[in-house]
Amino acid sequence: VSCIAVDIGGTKIAVGRVGDGGELLTDIATAPTPAHGADAVLAAVSELAARIREPSDDCIGVSSAGIIDSASGSVRAATSSIAGWAGAPVRSVLQEAFGLPVTVLGDGHAVGLGQAMYGVGKGKGTVVVLAVGTGIGGALVIDGQPQLGAGGAAGHFGHMPVPEATGVSCPCGANGHAEAVGGGTGILETYRSAGGSPLVTSTAQLAARHDDQLAVDALRRGGRALGTLAGALTSALDPDLIAVSGGVTAAGAVWWAAVEQAFRASALPALADTPLVRTEAGPATALRGAAYFAQRGNP
Ligand SMILES: [Zn+2]
Repeated sequence: VSCIAVDIGGTKIAVGRVGDGGELLTDIATAPTPAHGADAVLAAVSELAARIREPSDDCIGVSSAGIIDSASGSVRAATSSIAGWAGAPVRSVLQEAFGLPVTVLGDGHAVGLGQAMYGVGKGKGTVVVLAVGTGIGGALVIDGQPQLGAGGAAGHFGHMPVPEATGVSCPCGANGHAEAVGGGTGILETYRSAGGSPLVTSTAQLAARHDDQLAVDALRRGGRALGTLAGALTSALDPDLIAVSGGVTAAGAVWWAAVEQAFRASALPALADTPLVRTEAGPATALRGAAYFAQRGNP
């Protein structure tokens, strides 16, 4: 048996077939995410899924941008990344079109589950995944179950306050959240507002500027914010492993040293030896996580 896995992002939709052990059975098919509303997005998903479907497929596992109500399989809230996506009845539309059981997870939960079951968290009971891209998201996975929270929004770890971000406004509207200085956008913002080069557009470029003190400072501040956050989460949750993934993991040794140092200083001393690892999330991670959730008979 096998599962059709779908990843719906702000810029593209990816679809693949995944076997029971998480193995990818086909190449990943992709299409740009339509810009004009939920109906067009769901039509594009159906078309891609129909193209790769095989008779042995017995479920559909969806990972989607936005806050997902997994109980109803619909989109509870969505940022402007997909226009008109809030309220989209993802499960009922796909269930009707394909006649298969459908599960829907938020993309942070799907990626976290993929990392926890098939990536660095394999074989561990309690895994915290911190996804550091433009912002900071993530997931808590306990014994193969992503913890969704009461309304599907659990895992917005970047919106916790840390001292390194005091006084800095966060994209969510609040002040002092870790994401404001520790996410990719926040690190670049720290650098630019201190007078850094306007030519720098990524944290990887910042990491290559060894002789630019403003770059080093921005990376250190971002790393400390993330490490402090990781330490606080470790004290709260006592995980077997805390994994840092996402585009900012390319931010180099200076950044990572600051993450590790702040982590050891912030976590409860008895937990300061908790493994903290950097990892890559490949394009299949969300698909494998979404399939795992569907294959385990979740509603
Ligand atoms: Zn925030």
